Amino acid sequence: MSDVETTLRGPEAYKIARRALDLMERHQVWPTALNFELWTHFVADPDGALARELTRLISLGEPMTEIISEELAAAYLPKARLNEQIRDAGDLLSKELASVSQAIQNAQKSNAAFGKQLDGATKDLNANADVGAIKSVVTSLAQATRRVHKENQSLEARLAESTAEVDRLREHLEQVRRDATTDGLTNLANRKAFDEELDRACAEGDEAGSSLCLAVLDIDHFKGFNDTWGHQTGDQVIRYVASVIGRVAAMPRFAARYGGEEFAMIFPRESAAIVASCLEEIRVEVSSRTLKRRSTNEDLGTITISSGFAERARDESSHSLMERADAALYASKRSGRNKVSSAADAAASANAA
Ligand code: GH3
Ligand code: MG
Ligand code: MG
Repeated sequence: MSDVETTLRGPEAYKIARRALDLMERHQVWPTALNFELWTHFVADPDGALARELTRLISLGEPMTEIISEELAAAYLPKARLNEQIRDAGDLLSKELASVSQAIQNAQKSNAAFGKQLDGATKDLNANADVGAIKSVVTSLAQATRRVHKENQSLEARLAESTAEVDRLREHLEQVRRDATTDGLTNLANRKAFDEELDRACAEGDEAGSSLCLAVLDIDHFKGFNDTWGHQTGDQVIRYVASVIGRVAAMPRFAARYGGEEFAMIFPRESAAIVASCLEEIRVEVSSRTLKRRSTNEDLGTITISSGFAERARDESSHSLMERADAALYASKRSGRNKVSSAADAAASANAA
C-alpha cells in the first residue's frame, strides 16, 4: 500500500526526511516548514502529482519563492487546503452571528425605549385630560409605533438574510467535507473515507453478527504502462478502472481509490462466492477492453488487474483483515496476475508450499 501519510510515519520516515533536506539544499530551496512538507511529499511519493509539478518547476529553473510554495501547498497538500476552507467558513459564520446578535440587541433596546414611552404616555394622559395634550400624546405614540414596526420589519429581513447565509455556509462546509473524503481523480471515496467506512462496517458487523468481505485490487504492471504512455494517459486508465469498480459497488458496497493504482472494496453481508464472482466480473471487463488514448485515438492495448479478498473472521481487526486481503492480492500477483484470489486460498497454498 503506497500512501504518503503512512510512509511519513513508517520505518523509512527519517531517510525520507534526510533526502528531502538534501534535495532542498541541492535545488537551493530554503528549509522553511512549508518547503520541508512539500519536499518530504516529493520524496515519499515521487510519482505523485506534487512531485511531477515540482520536477517541472525545477527543470524550468524556476526559483522556489514563498508564493510558489504556498500555491503548491494549496493545490497539492489537501490538509492545508481543507483547513483553510474550514477556517474561512468558520470566520464568515462568526461574523454573521455577531452581526445578527447586534441587530437583535438594537431591536431589544428600541423595544425597551418604546415601552418606556408608553409608560410616559399613560402618565401624561392621566395627568392632562385636555384634547390638545391628548392629541400630541397620541401623535407621538403613533410615530413611535411606526418606528418600532419598521425596525421590527428590518430585523425580520436581516434574520431571513442571515438564515440564507448560514444555509449557504452549511452547504459550503458539506462540499468541503465531500471533497475531503473524495478522490479527485476518480471521484471514488479516498483512503481516509475508506478507512473510516471499514471501521464502521466492522463495528456494524460485530453488532449484528453479520459477515463482511474486504477486497483490494491493483492494476498490473502499471509502472510499465506509465513509462510507455506517460502519466496523463495512465491517469485516464485509473479513471477507467475506477468507473468499472464504481459500477459494481452500489450500496451497501463501498469502493475507494486506496492509493496510486490500488483500489479497495467493502462487501457487507455478502458471501465469499458472490464477492469472488463480482471481482471476476471486474477483472474480465477490464481485461477485455482495448484502450484508446483520448487525444490521439492511439491503440493502447489492454491492461489487467489483480485482486485479493478476505472474509472477516469474528472480531477480527480491520488491520488484520486488510493484511489478509493484501496477502491474497499478492498471491494473485505471484501466480501470474490478471487473477482473483481469496485469502483462504492464499493461506492454503502458502501452507502447501
Ligand atoms: P504490479 O503488477 O506488481 O502491481 O506492478 P506495478 O508496476 O503496477 O506496481 P508498482 O507498485 O511497482 O508501481 C505502481 C506504479 O503505478 C508506479 C507509478 O508509475 C504508477 N502510479 C501510481 N500512482 C499513479 C497515479 O496517480 N497516476 C499514474 N498515471 N500512475 C500512477
Ligand atoms: Mg500497486
Ligand atoms: Mg500495480
